[in-house]
This record gives sequence, C-alpha cells and structure tokens, in this order.
Amino acid sequence: MAAIGGPGCSRIESAWQSSRVSQAASQAAAFYRDVARNRKVWTIRDDQGFPAPKTTNESRAQPFWSSLARAERIVATVPAYKGFVPVEIPWVEFRDRWLAALERDGLKVGLNWSGSKAIGYDLTPGGVRQSIEAVAEREQQDALQPPSLITESFLPPPEWFDEFRLLHIDYGRKYNEIRQRNLPEAAKRNLTFAVWLETDEHRKRLMKHAVKGLRCTAVKPNGERCSRPARPDYIGQMCSSHAPHVNLYPGLDETRRIWRARIANWSER
Ligand SMILES: [Zn+2]
Repeated sequence: MAAIGGPGCSRIESAWQSSRVSQAASQAAAFYRDVARNRKVWTIRDDQGFPAPKTTNESRAQPFWSSLARAERIVATVPAYKGFVPVEIPWVEFRDRWLAALERDGLKVGLNWSGSKAIGYDLTPGGVRQSIEAVAEREQQDALQPPSLITESFLPPPEWFDEFRLLHIDYGRKYNEIRQRNLPEAAKRNLTFAVWLETDEHRKRLMKHAVKGLRCTAVKPNGERCSRPARPDYIGQMCSSHAPHVNLYPGLDETRRIWRARIANWSER
C-alpha cells in the first residue's frame, strides 16, 4: 500500500489510508514515526496539572502528541481542553521519566488523540516505548541503504505511467463521490473499501511491470537523502511524500515527450 498511500500528501492519499486503516491506527503510526525522527513529544497542562481522563471503565490515559501543531489543534477545537497549554518533552526525558511514572501509576499513553472528541489509541507505556524504538531502528537501517541509481533507460512506457496516474485520479474521484452520497456511514465505508480493493488489484497488476527497488532521491531539510521507496514515474524518482500530488503529474503527451527525450539521451552515450 505504501506505493500509493503515504503520509504528508494529499486528500486522496489520506482518503486512501482511511479506507483501510482506522483513524486511530494511522494517528498512532504517525506518533511513532514522528517521535522516532524528531525525538520530542508534547502533552498539555493547565493550573490543575496534566489531564488523564478515564478512557474506559477501568483505565485512564494521559494524552501525548507528536507535534506541537497537533496538541494546539486539540486545545483550540475540543472544549474540554480549552485553556490548556502545550508542554514539550524531549524523547529521553519522556522515555526515562514520563513512561516510567505512567507505568507506576497504571496509566496508559494516549497517542495523537484527534477529532472533535479527542480520541485515539491508548497503549501501555512499555508498548509505546518498544514501538518507537523499533521504528527508530528501522529508519536507521533504511538510511544505511546504498543509494539506488536514478533510472535513465528502463522506465516503463508512457502508457503504463498514464494508467498508474489515471488509476489514482479515478480512485480519488470515486472515493469523493461515495463520501458525498446521502448514506449511513457504514454503507459509505463498505463502498469505499470495495473501490479500494478493486483499485489495489489493478495497482498490483501494474506494479508487476514497474521498475523494482527504486529509492527516493529527494534531499531532506537536514541534508540527508530520503530513503523511502520511490514511485515508478516520470517525475524524478520520488517517494509519495516528495512527489507532487497526482493531479500535477504530467499527462500522456507530456510523458511521451519526456520518454522520447530520455531514450534519445540514452542512445547518444
Ligand atoms: Zn522521499
């Protein structure tokens, strides 16, 4: 799924994700990823201290967010947290002091609670620590991968690329159409899930003929090269975060032009 869906991208991408993964699960995944990368978390407090509301009959959880913006959004939009202020906590302090204290007090960790009711996953402090450390380790290994060459000659034909582009656009169109219909939420979810399954079948068939093992060639703000899997495309071998939105992808004619230029360039060597 990573080839099409992806964090940080457009409405279509997140629609793609939410048809598969629940909102809470994707918020938790974002929490692990952000904390592994940025090594900071945020909670909120007011004069009374830190909130730890009851989230089930028998347990309480203290909410944490993986960005200041997420914490601020909850304070601004959820009446229960009006007047709270965000508090930044470095990862090491969170790991060694906060998680230990939460564990001792029998509290759970609320991960990136979101939406108008500020809800999300609540997990044990030990589990949260393990997940963040596992993600950090995986990211480190990814960064050690040797950079792949930018493919010059073996791109799939322009028609293949256009089919890939249209498939994405078509998925977004169908998804939005279903969302706008006057149906119960569960029916909408079933319908969008069916469209996703159909789209993914099509995508898998296409991917059999794509260039394998490409890595993103974009450079991150810290100067390191992005190492995520790159999309098979004519737009510069980038991952779903760094590639432009699918609506901005070149159409068939433009892709044919790029393709011919590349072939000419290749045969001159
Ligand atoms: Zn990238």
